[in-house]
Amino acid sequence: MLLIQCPFCGPRDQVEFSYGGDAGVPRPADPAALSDDKWNAWLNERDNPAGEHDELWQHSMGCRRWIGVRRNTLSHEVVSSWALQPAKTA
Ligand SMILES: [Zn+2]
Repeated sequence: MLLIQCPFCGPRDQVEFSYGGDAGVPRPADPAALSDDKWNAWLNERDNPAGEHDELWQHSMGCRRWIGVRRNTLSHEVVSSWALQPAKTA
């Protein structure tokens, strides 16, 4: 079981989060300009790194905010986490 540090709520159990994919693959600026093969590659082809990896997670059963998480894929240690959206102030 992973313990993920939500930047807004503090440490929470993994079951409160939903995995959102690889954080290191930016969305193409103009998807309509891509060929089908390139679009398919962006949608489906991912590296499978052994070691530290940046991931997107949503605290779906908490604050519902998206966060970045650096996780070691070998040990499952959560190395760090950060906010992707600023905290609401009002
Ligand atoms: Zn949260």
